[in-house]
Amino acid sequence: MTVVRRLSDLPDGRFAPDEPVIALTFDDGPGAATDAVATALAKLDARGTFFVVGSVAQEEPDLLAALVTAGHVVGGHSWSHGRIDDATDAELAEEALRTSMLIEDATRAPAPLFRPPYRRVDAPRWDSVVAPLGLQTVTWSVDPRDWALTDPVAIATAALDHLHPGAIVLLHDGGGDRTATLEAVPLIVHGARLAGYRLVTL
Ligand SMILES: [Zn+2]
Repeated sequence: MTVVRRLSDLPDGRFAPDEPVIALTFDDGPGAATDAVATALAKLDARGTFFVVGSVAQEEPDLLAALVTAGHVVGGHSWSHGRIDDATDAELAEEALRTSMLIEDATRAPAPLFRPPYRRVDAPRWDSVVAPLGLQTVTWSVDPRDWALTDPVAIATAALDHLHPGAIVLLHDGGGDRTATLEAVPLIVHGARLAGYRLVTL
């Protein structure tokens, strides 16, 4: 299968390559900011795609269900968020599948999306393992490095400066203090709309 890096890569063909759509994606949750990010998006009449860490998400099945009920999409981001260099294919398969099954149990919705932890260069190896399991590997095309920035305006500017049709924007709602990301969300949504983009989910 194909590793999805932009929306027009999705095999369901929902988005043409030049379509003015973008998706905001949030990794490493659930965390303290997850509910606030989801609420901020909904207030803007936008929806996000959340890639959750299974070992954390298992403590918050109700939150996963609430995200899906509110129209957001939840995908897997591995069970342990470990590095893969020493992992066997069987271990990678379990990491992805266990998380997907957890999400499906919690949300009663299919959870075919998988985002590899850490490096984008690891995606082809993950994909070779998870594609036969029916999971779709998704990376990103815009990385504003929100995890390294504390200024919401800097995060929003970094995202908006690199938007393109079909952009998949990498942000984080867990794994640390995400106050700046939370504050950047409305700036990104408004800026993207001013530039003519529609916000969609994966
Ligand atoms: Zn991550």
